[in-house]
Amino acid sequence: MNYKQNFNIVRQKIQKALLAVGRSVNDVTLIGVTKNVEVDIIRQAVSHGIVDLGENRVQELLSKYEQVEDVRWHMIGRLQRNKVRHIIDKVTMIHSLDNLPLAREINKQAEKIQRVVPVLIQVNPANEKTKAGLPYEEVIPFIETIYNLKYIKVNGLMLIAPLTDEPETVRPYFIMMKQLFDGLKRYNYPHADIQYLSMGMTNDFEIAIEEGSNMVRIGTALFGERKKGEEVNGR
Ligand SMILES: *Cc1c(COP(=O)(O)O)cnc(C)c1O
Repeated sequence: MNYKQNFNIVRQKIQKALLAVGRSVNDVTLIGVTKNVEVDIIRQAVSHGIVDLGENRVQELLSKYEQVEDVRWHMIGRLQRNKVRHIIDKVTMIHSLDNLPLAREINKQAEKIQRVVPVLIQVNPANEKTKAGLPYEEVIPFIETIYNLKYIKVNGLMLIAPLTDEPETVRPYFIMMKQLFDGLKRYNYPHADIQYLSMGMTNDFEIAIEEGSNMVRIGTALFGERKKGEEVNGR
């Protein structure tokens, strides 16, 4: 596998999608999703300039955290409350906040280390039963509910679009997410700083960018196919 070539191809596609809609070429953060990827390959990615990495399992994140330096780790998968304390001081951002008990636990652990932790609210606009994320219409009430959790900063929204062979069919969800994102910005909540719209994966990142994503989480297109059984956590 030629990783360097993969990285270049992905970067070019990101830039092309940005230019197509008149956005500046640095307007997207690329998160390399390293689940199931070996450490020496991750180090190669880092040497090619990738600084943001995403993991969806706590155990794997912790082990790689020890072994890969000078990167920012993003927790992008379903997060159990009893594991929050293990990652609270290690992650740049938690992308998968979608319930109040988890919010309280993040807040509690963050308070212990006196750190305000950036989070994204995971949204499930297609109301897929098997998938994590809040229903679209519950996002604003949820954000209003957690206003008193002082050690959480709501930084934006995250979406895992429905799996499809025809990425165009998920475009409406990206559009909905962008509308919600823009709406949230206008509220000026004191406990929020709405900056990131984390959507777009290997199958759909170009469409996500065309519709306003500024954070894409890409695994397969960078690192190759994962082993069977390593599904997207939360999909
Ligand atoms: C695995 C995963 C990705 C990356 O998926 P690819 O299709 O391999 O790009 C992105 N986001 C989440 C939450 C994931 O679990």
